[in-house]
Amino acid sequence: MADVARKPPRPRTRAQKGRGVTGARKKPERGSWYPAFVGSLLAAGASVVVLIMVLVSRFADADPASVAVTPTETATATATLAPGEPTPAATAAPTGFAEILPCGDILVPIDKDHRLASDCEPGDLQALPPSISAEGSQYLRQAAAAAIKKLFDAAAVEGFHLYVNSSYRSYATQQELFDYWVRVNGQAYAERTSARAGHSEHQLGTTADVGFPGHFLEGFTGTSEAEWLAANAWKSGFVLSYPEGKEAVTGYAYEPWHIRYVGVEVAGKVHNSGLTLHEFLLQR
Ligand SMILES: [Zn+2]
Repeated sequence: MADVARKPPRPRTRAQKGRGVTGARKKPERGSWYPAFVGSLLAAGASVVVLIMVLVSRFADADPASVAVTPTETATATATLAPGEPTPAATAAPTGFAEILPCGDILVPIDKDHRLASDCEPGDLQALPPSISAEGSQYLRQAAAAAIKKLFDAAAVEGFHLYVNSSYRSYATQQELFDYWVRVNGQAYAERTSARAGHSEHQLGTTADVGFPGHFLEGFTGTSEAEWLAANAWKSGFVLSYPEGKEAVTGYAYEPWHIRYVGVEVAGKVHNSGLTLHEFLLQR
């Protein structure tokens, strides 16, 4: 908005352009060596700053996929982050330092240190029935789609009518979404509540955000439906990836609406372990 309103800079006149050159050519007056000397020092300092900025910007702009790092470097890069309190400076690098996960495995420990490649897309996505879809068509991998229908049928028996309002997201869609939340809520908040491209469980095609009309995302928190989902999702093979009070472990704020399909057996083990899905998958 501010950029639109801002006037473009006026082109400099010939006299203005030449001012610096003319001044530089001027023979120094007697006793004027000191300002010139200080000026030289400042110019040298500025050159070093510019050089550092260029190096930093080249690093930040690097294609994440082309940045090869060892696990040791990854650990070092993340060890300095305060859990749950990412800083803008700390968030500049995660995508570039993340370890790339195999594509197609539904049990990969995708998080801020592990990501999917930008071209990783599930091969068996299928549209969910419109009767359980909100916010447009929703897609999940075949097994997850079958499981969520079973889950929602079980919810309906209890009188809870659940919908999916977000499911599979491509790398590009996640990129747009993350950028959107950065614009709306700022970098630090976006890092707590939204995943960077490649780092989202939604790219797996096994993850859904669940709610019901008028109660999506934050509006779902604290509802009877959310309580039922937390207690029963595992029976259909789903796990709440970001439970309450575990932000320091998972890296994300509480999301009672975000469930990921891992199969009934694994979901049961996670449920009984008392661990977050993140911890469980890392220990496998
Ligand atoms: Zn989600």
